[in-house]
Amino acid sequence: MAQNGTIENGLARNACPPPLPQPVKIPEIKHTKIFINNEWHTSIKGKKFPTINPATGVKICDVEEADKADVDEAVRAARAAGQRGSEWRLMDASSRGRLLHRLADLLERERAVLATLESMDTGKPFLHAFFVDLDGSIKTLRYYAGWTDKIHGKTMPVDENFVCFTKHEPVGVCGAIIPWNFPLLMFMWKIAPALACGNTVVIKPAEQTPLTALHVGAIIKEAGFPPGVVNIVPGFGPTAGAAIASHMNIDKVAFTGSTEVGQLIKAAAAKSNLKRVTLELGGKNPCIVFADSDLQSAVEETQKGAFFNQGQACTAASRIYVEEPVYDEFVRLSVERAKNIVIGDPLEPRTSHGPQVSYSFELLSVFSSCVQIVYVFLLLGQIDQHQFDKILELVDSGKKEGAMLECGGCAVEDRGLFIHPTIFSDVKDHMRIAKEEIFGPVQCIMKFKTQEEVINRANSSHYGLTAAVFTRDIHRAMSVSAAMEAGTVWVNCYNALHAQAPFGGYKMSGNGREL
Ligand code: ADP
Repeated sequence: MAQNGTIENGLARNACPPPLPQPVKIPEIKHTKIFINNEWHTSIKGKKFPTINPATGVKICDVEEADKADVDEAVRAARAAGQRGSEWRLMDASSRGRLLHRLADLLERERAVLATLESMDTGKPFLHAFFVDLDGSIKTLRYYAGWTDKIHGKTMPVDENFVCFTKHEPVGVCGAIIPWNFPLLMFMWKIAPALACGNTVVIKPAEQTPLTALHVGAIIKEAGFPPGVVNIVPGFGPTAGAAIASHMNIDKVAFTGSTEVGQLIKAAAAKSNLKRVTLELGGKNPCIVFADSDLQSAVEETQKGAFFNQGQACTAASRIYVEEPVYDEFVRLSVERAKNIVIGDPLEPRTSHGPQVSYSFELLSVFSSCVQIVYVFLLLGQIDQHQFDKILELVDSGKKEGAMLECGGCAVEDRGLFIHPTIFSDVKDHMRIAKEEIFGPVQCIMKFKTQEEVINRANSSHYGLTAAVFTRDIHRAMSVSAAMEAGTVWVNCYNALHAQAPFGGYKMSGNGREL
């Protein structure tokens, strides 16, 4: 429970002191290759794929595309780096901690460059990248740097004349597959704990957003990590991602992404070598606003929860249940707030709402080497709008199923992949917008009458990632949060994520815990 310390509060606190950090004007894209053994490699099949700026639709650069053979190389490197007797395996635990701190120092040094690259690749506002993604990444590294020499086993007083103890060992080679909504932060959530425990890593960034991961490859080497400890394989899910999930020589896979792909990964792990699996998947997260809450604050927190990162977050506050006596006022205040959100160029400091992510079109890379005409045609106008179209289709379903569109509900005219922050009121539980993960800037507001009723409705979802309760009554706060089937429950705040606290879901939101 917290009154302060949410992502957006952190942003506001940090964003105030002048001068504001500035994006790097024309960042040099230095790293576009596959990173194995602290060296840069071209793809074995000779393939590349484009990464696109969703604010402009323009290609930023081509990136070498890892496939199964490249993943095999990366796994060989990771296996050798982590074997008994290797430099990494023999390193003092405290030295591993110093390396993680050194990496955090280098992230501080590169903060503006990384935030610029992240903003260009994802479309998220530069200041959000700088104050949220970079801040969280650096703190994650520092938190795990402190753990390296505090990983203790136990002694057990077993019967008879024996001494019995346990000793923690690295799992081995950890595969990681990460999404495009928080590329750098997810990279650090995966590698920091794995490295703190002495594992080695093969990590695949999302095909839409490979740039910050590759930039970090260079500074991992500069920090002094031995070759092969971290290997980065940019590529597509069904090829490079599937190769990780089904690899016989990977000991664990940690995945963040959609529930559908999470199911594929768990099946692939089971069918290959029974590797351990951690899944952090989707959410359809309920917020419960009681009539006794601080209404203005509840409006702000729930809306920031709904629209942060253009709604592209597994934690998105997507079902807002409001108690009947304050429902109308809550809707009015929410709409008023949404209309003041500044949509625009993510690199501009005033912007708080950027475009939805664009998918690099997989066919591009298939065709690019052989059919240049197709390539040019696709680049000119056909960036893949899959996610954008899916959001608008769900918005349409809300209109058709009878929800009240209060604001937004459409794309921004003449502009890349921007969607207006959208609010529906009078949403009913059976509607698709109340059940399906939208992954876009859509806030659904519903009315409730009793506590018992709202607990049942909030829990009636296949997902169970996060939830929030807004009330001034401490007893109600404790009992309702205890009744939530969710991995994280926030009270009077939203998106308060910390490296020190575990994160993960109930039900189809995943298993295992991050951090
Ligand atoms: P989203 O729908 O949010 O894009 P995905 O679950 O499709 O999320 O993607 C998250 C990550 O999973 C990305 O790195 C993507 O390349 C990877 N991925 C997608 N399909 C597969 C697959 N079949 N096997 C392994 N990884 C995959």
